[in-house]
Amino acid sequence: MVQESEIFECQQCGHCCQGQTTVSLDPADMARMLAVLGIRRETAEEKYWRVTGAVVQMKTPGGHCVFFDRGCTVHSGKPWRCAQWPLHPSILVDEANLSAIRESCPGINRNLSYEEFKIKLAAYLAGQ
Ligand code: SF4
Ligand code: SF4
Repeated sequence: MVQESEIFECQQCGHCCQGQTTVSLDPADMARMLAVLGIRRETAEEKYWRVTGAVVQMKTPGGHCVFFDRGCTVHSGKPWRCAQWPLHPSILVDEANLSAIRESCPGINRNLSYEEFKIKLAAYLAGQ
């Protein structure tokens, strides 16, 4: 069994939580986040969510996700796209995807070759 730490250890740099927009939330993400925060949708829309038509993202005061504070403060309620990062399955099909993700995320293990990384990632994802 491959441990996550063999391929990735978050450095809490916050890079993936910065920017003027965030990932969008699907209905399951919204329900999970509301449950974890213990709030109603109206409150989330007022304090945490940016709703643009059918698209729901997180507000980005100061150029980063509203939930970022030296790490994710809504960890168990984060959207699935956040939870998936940076161990994205697209890495398994193209080395360029690993290179691009490595550029954005300092937590990726840089001591492994692409083939080594791919084998460990496949085993890790299969074990989830
Ligand atoms: S970019 Fe990578 S190392 Fe930095 S906070 Fe995000 S997941 Fe962690
Ligand atoms: S929900 Fe958490 S992991 Fe996702 S962008 Fe916001 S702070 Fe980062």
